[in-house]
Amino acid sequence: MSESDSNAEPVKYPTIDNLDVAGKKVFVRVDFNVSLSDSGTVGDDSRLRGALPTIHDLLAKGARLILASHFGRPKGKPAPKFSLLPVGKRLAELIDREVLVPDDCVGMGVKKLISELKDTQIILLENLRFHPEEEANDDGFAKRLAALASVYVNDAFGTLHRAHASTVGMVKYFEKKAIGRLVEKEVSFLSKLTQEPQKPFLVILGGAKVSDKIGVIENLMNNASVFVVGGGMATTFLKAKGIEIGRSLVDDKKLAQARKLMERAEHKGIEFILPVDAVVAEAFDANAPHCVLKNGEDWGDGMALDVGPRSLELFAGAIRSAKTIFWNGPLGVYEFPAFQNGTHEIARMVAEGGALSVVGGGDSLAAVNKSGYAEKISHLSTGGGASLEFLEGKVLPGLKALT
Ligand code: AMP
Repeated sequence: MSESDSNAEPVKYPTIDNLDVAGKKVFVRVDFNVSLSDSGTVGDDSRLRGALPTIHDLLAKGARLILASHFGRPKGKPAPKFSLLPVGKRLAELIDREVLVPDDCVGMGVKKLISELKDTQIILLENLRFHPEEEANDDGFAKRLAALASVYVNDAFGTLHRAHASTVGMVKYFEKKAIGRLVEKEVSFLSKLTQEPQKPFLVILGGAKVSDKIGVIENLMNNASVFVVGGGMATTFLKAKGIEIGRSLVDDKKLAQARKLMERAEHKGIEFILPVDAVVAEAFDANAPHCVLKNGEDWGDGMALDVGPRSLELFAGAIRSAKTIFWNGPLGVYEFPAFQNGTHEIARMVAEGGALSVVGGGDSLAAVNKSGYAEKISHLSTGGGASLEFLEGKVLPGLKALT
């Protein structure tokens, strides 16, 4: 781990430090589920860069690398659109080495290629999801994958919460197994939040899916000092308090649970900060007419698409005094420029504050990257679902398989 990771905790899972991989075939599950540009080349290559520490360390030890990933949703069938070929090409540029990409991830051709692999050579198997058995965690498929190598490394943090053949099924067939550097870093930082975080510990949640995040509030109730809830999540909590929210996003099934959580927070002396105003729009549209309205004013049939300036002032106070911050989910519909101010401001305030900060989730990461403050965040978590489930206190299947 680098010096900049000195805030991280040591992890209890086997790491590649103690693996003897010289001359061995090492199966490395990576997350190369990137997006392609219109011309079919890799757009954002941060997922590839995320795997480089593991790739470099294993190569330095003389391993023969068999990289494997899923890519998109090809629905269990080969499809050129979901081929990992362009990904292999970009990886080859990044590491300045040849990366072989066969036309499948199992089968005679792949076996032959692997049997001819020399020390420090690299193969990137074709998309695992070209086979429906991958997501079904089929044991026969898991065995076929396992037969390709003698050592297993999982560095695909974003898929650790999924029990698939390449993340769970095949792992039992290996004696030598470990987490990769990216997973190590993720687990270290996230453990910091679940085990005695420096207080005040502020949790900022936004986004649209209340059901994905309400469990995190529940679990972090024992650790967190302050919750800030914004974005589409906030309006469910506001409605639960009896506040009029017009046609804003609401998860009616979660109203009772939201109410209970707020009562529990009050009982435990935990601050639960909700927006006090919003940018209310006439429709869910990038160009919809909008204005700032306070809670209790007449929102008519408008919808809150961003938090308002008074809310941001309130949030700023909590961010300034926090020593540890976890943030998941945009504070508004940041994809529309007119409604990105709240998310942008939170990114700025979190980055400029002195707290240990962890930001998780695809949308939050995109928002942070867009805001230009990414470098000032202590840790950008690559897995949205995986980081949320970790913080909920669930044991991620991909990690459990390694113990
Ligand atoms: P999630 O996956 O739950 O983090 O949700 C991310 C999505 O939430 C983004 O696409 C945002 O546009 C959306 N979002 C954020 N705030 C709101 C809001 N007030 N109303 C509707 N959608 C929102």
